[in-house]
Amino acid sequence: MTPDATEADIQRVIATVESIGLKAHPMPGANRTAIGITGNTGAVDPEPFVELPGVFECVRVTKPYKLVGRDLKHDKTIIKIDDAEIGGAEPAIIAGVCAVESHEQTMLTAQVVAEAGCKWFRGGAFKPRTSPYAFQGLHEEGLKILAEVRDTYGLKIVTEAIDEPALDLCEKYADVIQIGTRNMQNFSLLKRAGQARKPILLKRGMSSTLEEFLLAAEYVMAEGNYQVILCERGVRSFGNHSRFTPDLAVIPAAQKLSHLPIILDPSHSTGTRETVIPMSRAGIAVGADGLLVDVHPYPERALCDGPQALLFDMFRQMVGEVRAIAAIVHGVRS
Ligand code: PEP
Ligand code: MN
Repeated sequence: MTPDATEADIQRVIATVESIGLKAHPMPGANRTAIGITGNTGAVDPEPFVELPGVFECVRVTKPYKLVGRDLKHDKTIIKIDDAEIGGAEPAIIAGVCAVESHEQTMLTAQVVAEAGCKWFRGGAFKPRTSPYAFQGLHEEGLKILAEVRDTYGLKIVTEAIDEPALDLCEKYADVIQIGTRNMQNFSLLKRAGQARKPILLKRGMSSTLEEFLLAAEYVMAEGNYQVILCERGVRSFGNHSRFTPDLAVIPAAQKLSHLPIILDPSHSTGTRETVIPMSRAGIAVGADGLLVDVHPYPERALCDGPQALLFDMFRQMVGEVRAIAAIVHGVRS
């Protein structure tokens, strides 16, 4: 649409799209609104649209992903909840526990995260574990603890939904719903996430290409949820010096193709705490919109992913270093 298109102009285009049996996806940008069209099996005839008031141009998107791509929406998407942003001027540091194990462990960590000036808290109440005998999470009890973190510290809550029933619950308690690496191509879960009206943090499948990753995000957006955050969490490689290989190159590559913000998980991508700070610095240096990082008050007793959890002092150090790098790379950031 043109920058001065009115709400009535936008609604007229949407009604026209729907009148021919297709789905309209209005996406406001900084200067103008783009309206994606999906549901078509072949090329859409631009004729009914070109003459409508407020229409600037009709663009055929030839890429397999439509709503995720910059062809449709050039301006970067910023996820915003109150004063917390992902994709905005400052890198978003989403820090917290891998798994919510207890009230004490979670609240101690949340206090440190809040005192470091971070605005987002992560914590898993439903854990996708490799072994069925490993700790699976506290489920709703864990979500209640996370809700208490928000009430106490004002932190926005990011938590993983491993299936549809979990998503129903996470939607009730959390601010952002995470879809994990093992579920990146769980298409029914992606569609359910697309019906949620909360932002979705989508982790890259550990063996997926960038195109598969973007198409997974497209599943969410095609259902009408345009609030998606991409997260690089490491891919399978042949080395054994690191649990996974953080694919830093995917960050600028994704940013070139997509308007969605992309963050790095330096914890799950490396598996060892000594590597988390260097990778966090690197992620911000290559332009990641933020980090998703595990912290634990006593990682030697953690029920999940203890070896990768930062100790509190390491976390404070990481936040300081990352902010200094962001200030250099982005100038305006501090
Ligand atoms: C997590 O972030 O807690 C997690 C399980 O990550 P991933 O899906 O990337 O393994
Ligand atoms: Mn974990």
